[in-house]
Amino acid sequence: MEMNKTDITDILYASLGISPQVLAYGERITEGLKDRFHQIDCTAEYNQLKVIKAMQEARVSEACLLGTTGYGYNDLGRDTLEEVYAKIFHTEDALVRPQITCGTHALALALMSNLRPGDELLSPVGKPYDTLEEVIGIRPSRGSLAEYGVTYRQVDLLPDGTFDYENIRKALNERTRLVTIQRSKGYQTRPTLSVEKIGELISFIKGIKPDIICMVDNCYGEFVEKTEPSDVGADMVVGSLIKNPGGGLAPTGGYIAGRKECIENAACRLTSPGLAKEVGASLGILSSFYQGLFLAPTVTAGALKGAIFAANCYERLGFAVIPDGKETRHDIIQAVTLGSPEGVIAFCKGIQAAAPVDSFVTPEPWDMPGYDSQVIMAAGAFVSGSSIELSADGPIKPPYAVYFQGGLTWFHAKYGIMKSIQQLLDDRVISPDRLKIV
Ligand SMILES: *Cc1c(COP(=O)(O)O)cnc(C)c1O
Repeated sequence: MEMNKTDITDILYASLGISPQVLAYGERITEGLKDRFHQIDCTAEYNQLKVIKAMQEARVSEACLLGTTGYGYNDLGRDTLEEVYAKIFHTEDALVRPQITCGTHALALALMSNLRPGDELLSPVGKPYDTLEEVIGIRPSRGSLAEYGVTYRQVDLLPDGTFDYENIRKALNERTRLVTIQRSKGYQTRPTLSVEKIGELISFIKGIKPDIICMVDNCYGEFVEKTEPSDVGADMVVGSLIKNPGGGLAPTGGYIAGRKECIENAACRLTSPGLAKEVGASLGILSSFYQGLFLAPTVTAGALKGAIFAANCYERLGFAVIPDGKETRHDIIQAVTLGSPEGVIAFCKGIQAAAPVDSFVTPEPWDMPGYDSQVIMAAGAFVSGSSIELSADGPIKPPYAVYFQGGLTWFHAKYGIMKSIQQLLDDRVISPDRLKIV
């Protein structure tokens, strides 16, 4: 018999450790996701055009891809890239810099530069991302906002995940200067907020206090929808370049896009009062920022398909998944509750074994600083710590859930998830008959 294309792909899967049963299971699941994948592609197409249009309008040229040294005065590439970000997010201005070291730094910068002693910060969506606890001073920390006399208030979401409008109204006072809204659920179990929902919240808040600054922690949310929080009233959107908008190519960096005054405040804090956006050498890094941004819509689409594929695979294997297999998506994070330490470890081993880098190492649980239990992490990334690349981590404690995200391509994500299922089988965490449920 002559081999057709499918056969040689199957053989390659087999040589990469995927059994015919797991492959068939994965293909059945994929088959059922055609319509949703089409929707994701439509969003990616729109966002791809949005990025190209912004680059054309800002007249990105070959010279923009070069870098400056020293003070970085008149850095054409840096200034043009910031214009491109502002056009994509439909904001007056943006700050996009390799000197912003990560997402937490970008968020801290946006907060610390726009709040003054005596001001109050409000989170109307519950507890913010772990690393922000020390920025705000929820956990006492050197240099926190609390040390500078900025107070903090929090209104939790209602049990059904909706906004507690009544208590948000009560929490707003004459000192409330800035509201921080986290789009992604991060590592919590609450739902991720859609751009539409964020818009409703911002309208409500501005209806009560129009001059309040609404900041959105946009981490993991960029390009998942056709609109961004800045399209529905956010004064600042903030994120990391080693997540969605860096497209896997940016090796470091963060961004803030928003109102001119907010960005000016942030620039004065990042560099220095008086110098603001005028300094900051881009060295040779800008071509990766531009090219990564160009790829970001399709890279995000691949990661999103991977998350939905995983949700459906694991849901049908009988595990609890958040979001579930059918829910609409507003970020790229997927949680799977494996229910046992062995399950978490096997899952992570599978993801690691599917990586293009460090596929031969075995991840093991370890006592990570800042955590109250052991944590296991799987990542075989080109950019260290990059979570737009396929990665997973899970604390070794009940309910034994793993959080996984990323995948620079859908095919890598698909392979990685099938590899994790294979590992669960090989380690006897699940029995082969579980694959027959479909
Ligand atoms: C990743 C993330 C952060 C922090 O970003 P780092 O780059 O890890 O510092 C903040 N908020 C959310 C929702 C995130 O997902």
